[in-house]
Amino acid sequence: MLKDTVSAVKEGEQVEQQWVLASNNKGKLAEFERLFAAANLNVTIIPQGQLNIEDAVEDGLSFVENAIIKARHASRISRLPAIADDSGLCVPALGNAPGIYSARFAGEHGNDANNNAKLINDLQPIRAQNRLDNKDTPIKGIFVCVLAFVRHADDPLPIIAQGLWQGEILETPHGEGGFGYDPLFWLPELGATAASLDSADKNRMSHRGQAIRQLLQQL
Ligand code: IMP
Repeated sequence: MLKDTVSAVKEGEQVEQQWVLASNNKGKLAEFERLFAAANLNVTIIPQGQLNIEDAVEDGLSFVENAIIKARHASRISRLPAIADDSGLCVPALGNAPGIYSARFAGEHGNDANNNAKLINDLQPIRAQNRLDNKDTPIKGIFVCVLAFVRHADDPLPIIAQGLWQGEILETPHGEGGFGYDPLFWLPELGATAASLDSADKNRMSHRGQAIRQLLQQL
């Protein structure tokens, strides 16, 4: 079998590689699909769900630690190179919460509506104090995306890329697109939330778009 495969590969011909993408988040997967398609890599990206790989236990304290944990987990089970995204929203006025806990901020993993409601709620005292002080300072938010690529599960030299996207946090959601905290993430220079952007525009500016372009340069 192996012999057949080897002889079928003509000299100089490149074998298409397979990488596993360590995420089961539908919103992220849709963005990755477009971003990788635009990169014209000679690689097939397989979402880990297609290989029945469950989510890793994310017990790191930073985005980079969790990205590496997820990539190693997917690579160990699939025996393929793996790429993982750990991302989230940091709000400096809340000590950078929800941060690495963005997906489960309100308790249940991936419940975007509850996570957004908790964020609005947690920011209320800060907004109230700003009003008392006659300050109309916007509440800043930073979307963070860290990508880790490992060639194998124990790779001692993962490739790391990081993208940051700055915006402001609204009091009420706007826009129908995107996922997660997009409806609360206001871009004052565009007069729109991330949820109002079409996917091409979001990918051009977003933390994930920046991180993927950076990663591709390093590969
Ligand atoms: P992770 O899957 O543990 O990396 O968690 C990512 C979480 O961060 C998501 O569930 C969202 O709540 C949030 N998040 C990450 N990227 C985005 C984005 O592009 N838009 C909105 N929310 C995001």
